[in-house]
This record gives sequence, structure tokens and C-alpha cells, in this order.
Amino acid sequence: ETETNNFVINDKVIKNIFKPRQDFSHKGTYGKAILAGGSYGKIGAAVLSTKSALKTGAGLTFTLAPKCGYEILQTSCPEAMFIEGGTDYIENFNVDGDAVCGVGPGLGTNAQTVKSFLQFLKKYSKPLVLDADALNIISHDQKNLKLIPKKSIITPHPKEFERLFGETGDSFERLELARKKAYELEIYIVLKDHHTQVITPKGNVFYNITGNSGLAKGGSGDILTGILTSFLAQNYTEEETAVLGVWFHGKAAEFASEKYSKESMLPTDVINEFGKVFE
Ligand code: AMP
Ligand code: MG
Repeated sequence: ETETNNFVINDKVIKNIFKPRQDFSHKGTYGKAILAGGSYGKIGAAVLSTKSALKTGAGLTFTLAPKCGYEILQTSCPEAMFIEGGTDYIENFNVDGDAVCGVGPGLGTNAQTVKSFLQFLKKYSKPLVLDADALNIISHDQKNLKLIPKKSIITPHPKEFERLFGETGDSFERLELARKKAYELEIYIVLKDHHTQVITPKGNVFYNITGNSGLAKGGSGDILTGILTSFLAQNYTEEETAVLGVWFHGKAAEFASEKYSKESMLPTDVINEFGKVFE
């Protein structure tokens, strides 16, 4: 048993992680992010994750989505490039080798998507961000857990966590199980909740205290995936990405609720507060 530590993500932690944009730089300095997701009826999830990556500073942002999302994505996110992965759902995960990949929002679990995603994971070894249906696909079979590349960041909400790792009695039990799995699989687990916890492979836990119940709405998790993929592409370490990302997401939600109320704020409004968080 190694010693583990608990940390609260406060302003000091964030100031130590955050790297301001450099004057002498160009788009190549800030990495490539690919958001893979969306399916017929769920293209909005791909829009939200893409917009979120764009608005957190990635140098180049791509969306890998089915053709039915082409016009929607090119219109709502003109700064992003479109990679076609299928007709109504993704059937092909061909991604550029030097990009950082975030997979899952709106992906769906069509049989062809399942097959091609698992094939992709078998060949892919760089850390990536896995969320939503990417996690649901993995949870179909315990053997799939080993396919997650080391140092990846996974972002389950409590239901997705239980689908992946089994049921737990309460949040304490869940945290202990998360510690065990983060260690065994050598991954970062972002356990999304009212107070999101980041669990590192070493078993350390970072508690997030930003955010509010205005985030309890469809689409909130999709924008977190965009934030994390973008920070990882910008060369933050996996641990820095997870810690900075959850704090950033919650902080933007606080600005959005001040403006619109927790009831009325939408994930899109949260994205539009990103600038204030950077300031
Ligand atoms: P998802 O369920 O994938 O859409 O993710 C929801 C996101 O919103 C996660 O980042 C949660 O931490 C956050 N969230 C949802 N409900 C609350 C809440 N009541 N308080 C704070 N954050 C929340
Ligand atoms: Mg989600």
C-alpha cells in the first residue's frame, strides 16, 4: 500500500497549473484536438464538445462525426474541420496520429459503431479522453477495460461508473473502487458529481468545488469532454488537464448562473463564459 493524498482544487492549485498563451507562438503551438462523436439525432453533443474545445484554445480542432452532421457542424463551428466517419453514425475511427482524441459525446451504440470503436482501441495506444457512449461501449464486456490506453482520462457520471465497474453502496465505496481501478488500469478517473473527484493512477484524489446544479442538464458533460481534450492537446499533463478541466468547467457554470440563473443557463451559455474564466 502506497500513501495517498487528498487535495481540494483551489485557486492556488490552478495558478500553478495554468500556462498563459505565449506571444511568440502559432496554431501549431497549441496542439490538435479531435472530438469524435455524434449520431443521427445527437449531433448537438458533437457541436457542444467541438465548440468547447475551440473556446478553450486548441490550435486546430477537428470533429469526427457522421455525414448527417456535416452541415450542422460546419455551420455552427466554422473554425473546426470535419472528418466524415459514417452516414448516420460513426463506422470508422481513422484519426490523425499527432492529434489528441476525445471520444463519446452523442456517439450512440449502433453495432457498427461498437465494432469499429473497439477495433480502434485495440490499435491505439496514446492517452485519450473517453466519455459517454465510449464508456458505455467499453462496459459491455469487462475485457474491454484493458483496451483503454494507459494515462487516458475517463469521465463517467455515477451511472456510467457503475456500468463500467459494478454497483457500489454509497459515494465512499464508489471512491474506493475508483482508486482501485485507476491504479489497476493506470488511468485518470473523473468521477462526475456535485463535487467531482479526479482520481489519479497513484490513488491521489483531487476534489473540485466549483460548479452548481445549473449543470444538471443534458450537454454539460459534453462540454467537459471538449475542455479536457483541448487542454490535453495543449500539452498539459493528464493530471493537470483533469484538475484544471473540472475546475474550469465549474467556474464557467458559476459565471453562467450569475447571468441567467441555474434554471435557465444552458451548456452553450457555459461555453460563452469561458473567456471570463481565462481572465
Ligand atoms: P453528464 O451527466 O455527462 O452530462 O455530466 C454532467 C456534468 O455536470 C458533470 O461535469 C457534473 O459534475 C456536472 N453536474 C451535474 N449536476 C451537477 C450539480 N448538481 N452540481 C454540480 N455539478 C453538476
Ligand atoms: Mg454525459
